[in-house]
Amino acid sequence: MNRSLDAHQRDRYSRQLAIDAFDEAAQRALLSSRVLVVGVGGLGSAAVQYLAAAGVGTLRIADHGTVKRSNLQRQVIHGTDDIGEPKVDSAARFIETLDPETEVECRPERVDANGVESLLKSVDVVVDGLDTFQGRFIVNDAARLAGVPFVHGAIYAFEGQYAVFRPGGPCYRCLLPEAPDPETVPSGEPIGVFSTLPGVVGCLQATEALKILAGVGTPLEDRVVRCDATDATFVDTPLEQDPDCPVCGPDPITSVTDGDYEGDCRIER
Ligand SMILES: [Zn+2]
Repeated sequence: MNRSLDAHQRDRYSRQLAIDAFDEAAQRALLSSRVLVVGVGGLGSAAVQYLAAAGVGTLRIADHGTVKRSNLQRQVIHGTDDIGEPKVDSAARFIETLDPETEVECRPERVDANGVESLLKSVDVVVDGLDTFQGRFIVNDAARLAGVPFVHGAIYAFEGQYAVFRPGGPCYRCLLPEAPDPETVPSGEPIGVFSTLPGVVGCLQATEALKILAGVGTPLEDRVVRCDATDATFVDTPLEQDPDCPVCGPDPITSVTDGDYEGDCRIER
């Protein structure tokens, strides 16, 4: 953290070091940080590119999936030659090409309540690249218990949303207390997604993660930003902490295994 940048680093990051509000201390903070990206599909692909390019020192990547041909229209860190390969391996190869000095920790596992604590260990920020409510509730709850900021993102067709849930403020459960009835929402691989939407939202998630890590700018707080590419709109919605929230309220759960993540993810009090 205190080591000054070497000549290669000063050159590599010169364009962001040239910003008045971004100095060597900010760059050193990025280089010494570890970010967990859960899911390297569309959102995770976009986030990983810029987290690595900007100089995050260690990227921990969790994904249990393999690359499919139908992913390539939007999951841009994976290529045709990666079809059939684990996504974590494909992501690691991409990062190695971009910057061999980035440490990559591959976790080829599905996010579950038993393994999430290990995934979050020694992590500074977690970026949401998940496509299930269950996974997202597990990560939200575990991240809050661990005191780790959670940069949420979600997409559907031409629409997307993102938000930052940091200790002391509202969490994902304050936005959505429980998972909706599976009958009422589309989910999983067959849902339609316009190619660029995960790129847009994933880049915005990376932007917030980098701001938090580097200590620059004002983090997105207490609001959700929703975008709709069909009419090119971004809309801010205020988000308040739920005083009865079982995760960020005054009487929070003490273990992520308190939740029922098989069903509607509700936490009974
Ligand atoms: Zn909450």
